[in-house]
Amino acid sequence: MLLREVEYARPETIDEAVRLLSSREDARALAGGQSLVNVMKIRVAAPELVVDLNRIEELRGISAAADGSLVLGAMVTYDELIRSDAVRAARPILGEVALTIADVQVRNRGTVGGNLCVNDPTNHLPPLMATTGATMTIRSLEAERTVSSDEFFLGVYLTAVTPGEMLTRVTVPALAPGESDGWASVTLGKDGTGIVNVAATVAAGQARIAIGCVSAVPVVVEAEADEVSVRKAVADADLDPPSDVHASADFRRHLAQVLAWRAVGQALERTGA
Ligand SMILES: Cc1cc2nc3c(=O)[nH]c(=O)nc-3n(C[C@H](O)[C@H](O)[C@H](O)COP(=O)(O)OP(=O)(O)OC[C@H]3O[C@@H](n4cnc5c(N)ncnc54)[C@H](O)[C@@H]3O)c2cc1C
Repeated sequence: MLLREVEYARPETIDEAVRLLSSREDARALAGGQSLVNVMKIRVAAPELVVDLNRIEELRGISAAADGSLVLGAMVTYDELIRSDAVRAARPILGEVALTIADVQVRNRGTVGGNLCVNDPTNHLPPLMATTGATMTIRSLEAERTVSSDEFFLGVYLTAVTPGEMLTRVTVPALAPGESDGWASVTLGKDGTGIVNVAATVAAGQARIAIGCVSAVPVVVEAEADEVSVRKAVADADLDPPSDVHASADFRRHLAQVLAWRAVGQALERTGA
């Protein structure tokens, strides 16, 4: 189906972008377009104004903050995460997981900001942001605020970014000594959509685990980093997985336990524990 006629703007600064996004009730930011253009094509979304963020240099680039945290511009692509030495040094899991998202075309275009702002429960990056302790910085016309992942992900396709606002950057703490990350997922075919995705961060025998695809937002649980504790914590968690042609809700619950332990196990291996 062809796109509905839509007004298009291509600002060069964040200030100009938020002014445009605030100028209409139904203005939408365009990042990589890998979700937005698809939903526009099937008319699930029909914004009056599309504000293309691709020319805004301030939204690009990966840098290190004074404390070593990675600062990712909202328009950093998956491919840039994969290729970044800074990411490899500070938080390699980000590039490793980005490498498993869909295909080369999607990885060349898709952005960190778009992945988080769309908050599709099957997307790869939301669980990672939850376990790594990332914070999201949101700009409006009047102000800037920084929120944690608990405050950012609010529901299916719903985040703390309200109309007129935009996500400008994501700050991910560098791994602390003795800390490491793991990831495990079962997908539809190789690098396909997640049936269940799990991220884990382990430090000093404690695991922080975030499970994707089993609720509207990543479900975060904490446990001692051993198999019995991890499986019990996930079994006791408030999961609300869907049942569909790919997997029943019960099977997704089962997978969540298996994959949580697999992700924690991978993190433990990396700490040498
Ligand atoms: C075939 C295919 C398979 C895919 N498989 C996966 C997968 O397995 N895992 C996965 O994680 N993803 C997958 N995706 C989705 C892909 O990762 C998208 O890139 C991502 O969901 C959206 O990122 P984007 O940069 O393309 O954003 P866009 O599509 O441009 O935007 C998505 C939404 O976010 C908003 N937005 C974007 N940036 C900002 C910002 N800075 N501030 C405020 N709002 C913003 C837009 O207005 C829009 O509502 C797949 C996509 C395709 C086409």
